[in-house]
Amino acid sequence: MSNYINISKPIIKKEELKAVTDVLNSGSIVQGKKVMELENEFAKFCKTKYAVATNNGTSALHTALHSIGLKKDDEVITTPFTFVATANSILMAGAKPVFVDIDEKTYNLDPKKIQAAITTKTKALLVVNIYGQPVNYEEINKIAKKNKLIVVEDAAQSIDAEYKGKKSGSFADIACFSLYATKNIMCGEGGMITTNNNVYFEKARFFRQHGQDENKKYEYFGLGYNYRMMDLQAAIACVQLKRLQNITKQRQMNAQKYNRTFNGIKGLVVPYCDKNSSHVYHQYTLRITSEFPLSRKKFIEQLKEKGIQANIYYPIPLYSFPHLIPNGVKVSDFPVTIKAVQEVVSIPVHPSLSSHDVEFIIKTIINSSKL
Ligand SMILES: *Cc1c(COP(=O)(O)O)cnc(C)c1O
Repeated sequence: MSNYINISKPIIKKEELKAVTDVLNSGSIVQGKKVMELENEFAKFCKTKYAVATNNGTSALHTALHSIGLKKDDEVITTPFTFVATANSILMAGAKPVFVDIDEKTYNLDPKKIQAAITTKTKALLVVNIYGQPVNYEEINKIAKKNKLIVVEDAAQSIDAEYKGKKSGSFADIACFSLYATKNIMCGEGGMITTNNNVYFEKARFFRQHGQDENKKYEYFGLGYNYRMMDLQAAIACVQLKRLQNITKQRQMNAQKYNRTFNGIKGLVVPYCDKNSSHVYHQYTLRITSEFPLSRKKFIEQLKEKGIQANIYYPIPLYSFPHLIPNGVKVSDFPVTIKAVQEVVSIPVHPSLSSHDVEFIIKTIINSSKL
């Protein structure tokens, strides 16, 4: 189906093609000048002192959690309502994920429920700005300070989002981005760490490259991996970063069009946007409640029939997977997560949608609300 409207679409234009060709022609395609340029531009964009590029968002998370010095048996509090890489990275760093329920409006970790989960082993909070909306960092940083915890920001979905005038990537002690093909900016596979902490920065740089200092090869400061990004990828991301503000604007405009219409439809709950933050709509996620005439499953089928892809992010809470929580959790501690996994559905909001596409999606959903 040529007119099928996918939930995401990587933007690849003339500038990306030229950037890739230039790197290929330069004869040096792996980590080098372009990666350094991307790191500089990223740090400038997020207003952090440092940035470290990696080969994907998962390796960025693993590297960041290593850099903050997690040890075996340390506990890291996180959300069960996210992509699995968030929680897996805690295992990769040798620590233990501890899940806490989410906030009903933002779908982010609920600060009110964190204190009860803190033990003497708790070392860090790994918070996710889910769908592109920042967590309540005022509350999060207050809890962290009081309990001497390190805050790690999973910013894979929130590049360019703001909280009280600051950019995502600078809200916490250290932050991780993904540049995977479906994210707001991308380079196929890619990741980035941002921080103002020079110890974390140095550890991250070593860990990405076999535990070596780039300037002092064959001397190893500890275990490291090969988590390097290629110049080939960095060249694409550099182009996309320049376009980011327009990309964000386009996503926000599409979301506002949706909000205006869907707000008035019984049984649909539009995304909440906190007054202290800006939402960059990595996903535009509706809740389909029991007041809507169609079940969520039927709703998705209806859209698919009209050539529109709608997906569920995320259908299963992460505490359901034994590799993450061998002894399980008390599910009664997670009423909000349980409701969210049953009701959410995301529809296309990306900047490659034409205004005709957006109108068509709106019309299709209005019609389905009358079935
Ligand atoms: C995409 C994503 C990741 C992982 O990034 P990859 O680049 O795919 O490894 C981690 N956390 C969240 C919330 C994500 O959306």
